[in-house]
Amino acid sequence: MTTDRFNVDDFYYWSFGDEFLVVCPKCSACAKVLDFSGQPDPTIRLSCLHCSHSKDWEQLRPGVTFASSSALFDPGVISIGSAVDWYFHEPLWLQEACCGRNLWAYNSRHLHWLRDFVGAKLRERTISPEHGWSNQSLASRLPKWFQEKSNREAILAALKRMEQRLE
Ligand SMILES: [Zn+2]
Repeated sequence: MTTDRFNVDDFYYWSFGDEFLVVCPKCSACAKVLDFSGQPDPTIRLSCLHCSHSKDWEQLRPGVTFASSSALFDPGVISIGSAVDWYFHEPLWLQEACCGRNLWAYNSRHLHWLRDFVGAKLRERTISPEHGWSNQSLASRLPKWFQEKSNREAILAALKRMEQRLE
């Protein structure tokens, strides 16, 4: 099993991690995991509008696990890098098979960012702030296969299928 380790400063992951669309563990519809840490009583909550299932996250161990396989994630530990939310580790709602890989997005903002990235013609190393890429590290964290021109059409088609899953 390959385990990719990511830098804690990895902006790519932090930038979209305030909201996760996940498969509801009770009814399999689309549920949300939201960070309410701005509230007086900080809470990470999974809630489903379809079946009213709601669950607050309980941290069992401090620290963060970075891995590309959710098999390495322990319950109650913040875990980043796989196609699950960071807290409950429920499967992401926005996932599509593409180019022999699994393409995923945390939420609609993340999906649209990926779409804009792939859709940009002059994205390879020439991306400048006027094209809207204010943080190069964000793009440099994407896997190589995702950045290859030959995969562009397939990726855009997969992102379109993912967009249809948004309500
Ligand atoms: Zn539900």
